[in-house]
Amino acid sequence: MKSELLAHYVAGEWLKSNEDQWSDDLNPSDTTQVLARVPQGPSGVVERATEAAHDAFAGWRALSGPARSEILYRAANALAERRQEIGTVVAQEVGKPLGEALGEADRGVAILRYFASESVHPNGQVIPAQLAGSLQFTLRQPLGPVAVISPWNFPVAIPLWKIAPALAYGNTVVWKPAEVASLTAVRLAEVFASAGLPSGVLNLVLGKGSSLGNTLISQEAIRGITFTGSDSVGMGIAEVAARRNVKYQLEMGGKNAAIVLGDADMKQAAKLVAAGAMRFAGQKCTATSRVIVTNDIADSFVDLLKQEIQALPLQPATESSSAVGPLITQDSLEKVASYAQKSTQSGRVVLGGNYARSGALKNGYFFEPTLVVDVPPDAPVAQEEVFGPLLVVELAHSIDEAIAIANNTKYGLSVSLFTHDINASLEYINAIECGMVRVNGDTTGVDPHAPFGGMHNSSSHSREQGTAAIDFFTEIKTIQVNR
Ligand code: NAP
Repeated sequence: MKSELLAHYVAGEWLKSNEDQWSDDLNPSDTTQVLARVPQGPSGVVERATEAAHDAFAGWRALSGPARSEILYRAANALAERRQEIGTVVAQEVGKPLGEALGEADRGVAILRYFASESVHPNGQVIPAQLAGSLQFTLRQPLGPVAVISPWNFPVAIPLWKIAPALAYGNTVVWKPAEVASLTAVRLAEVFASAGLPSGVLNLVLGKGSSLGNTLISQEAIRGITFTGSDSVGMGIAEVAARRNVKYQLEMGGKNAAIVLGDADMKQAAKLVAAGAMRFAGQKCTATSRVIVTNDIADSFVDLLKQEIQALPLQPATESSSAVGPLITQDSLEKVASYAQKSTQSGRVVLGGNYARSGALKNGYFFEPTLVVDVPPDAPVAQEEVFGPLLVVELAHSIDEAIAIANNTKYGLSVSLFTHDINASLEYINAIECGMVRVNGDTTGVDPHAPFGGMHNSSSHSREQGTAAIDFFTEIKTIQVNR
């Protein structure tokens, strides 16, 4: 397989790097395949990209909303046309099972269409003035050039739910994707280029976050930073942004719980919990990593859960029937293995617990879906984000105790409750400390037009997506016109 040499996209040009330093972009389902080579230079590329975004800002902001809308619709159509190709790249590059990878490409199209329509929606308010005959209103204006820093696990949807609103509201962008998702990023930049986006409005810089990231967020011209990734990196970004008094938005990790009460539809709950925990090898910020069940149903629910987990095919991501897929890197694989090993001390492993290396899995980063029972709520495996196919079962005597266990974490991203008891549901909706709260649904996935985000260490408390995005990507100006 010939691997593609990737290029940065700056000021409307694909910049070939003359440097000798490249990193290999591997297929995690089969690491003998080098899909692409990612440039590690030239130095100064971040500065050039920021300058391009700065230079393009005045023209892009001055363009009418309908004209920006038209370009975003063209990008949506271009992505829809390349859905199969780009979905396949996602499956190959980040190991997302093909069905979900294609679904993510579709979601990208929906996001672009949503924000294309936002460009023509009214976005200020008329406010009655105290002075008779005066006109008072607000205008929403773009921030300027913004830095988009995205993770590898949703390499289409997350960049797009940042880039599309940024562009819709008149900002320009410098985008630094996760290095292991560089090929998908190049494909998305091609989509925007083919839609006729003016030069410099979207710029893509490739390479390692540890070397490029800090340079990017420290550029004086950058007026907003939107980041999704781990809390350790996010907190460092918050410090720099606060020092510079630049608007920032962080979406970070989770330790998401599903609560199952005795009256729930057990089979349905087991199916959705298994899917929320194990699909894409648990590598979603919203993946279910804890299930809290009431004592009366614990044994029967665990039996059903085992059956549902075993029914999910563990296969290379490009197989159309694949559900679980590989971990993203060797480090991630070792991290999951280490938590599985530690789980034998804090609980009982009743399913999985080992590397999966047979047959078609032999060259990939595969780990068996792992279920651990009898885990105390304070055990590290019940508190820390594993980001892998490992689910712990915790016990509670009542809905109150279950809510207390679910809330006992530094995170607060997503949660679900399985019950038909309306009183228990209302108590839970009121008391749970999470940004995304479900009843009778799994913890993953939110409609692309609904606000997305978390509480506590999961988020900087603003929201992304849909109706919420305008708040981050615009500043409000209050205007009064007197006679
Ligand atoms: P990560 O290691 O924190 O990386 C996220 C992004 O930050 C990547 O583009 C990375 O580049 C870059 N980066 C790394 N160091 C940086 C630095 N010092 N300054 C600026 N940028 C830097 O996270 P990940 O492994 O890609 O993603 C997994 C994490 O994301 C999990 O914790 C997951 O829960 C979280 N996540 C949260 C959400 C949400 O919406 N809440 C959604 C998806 C994922 P490189 O990759 O090139 O190092």
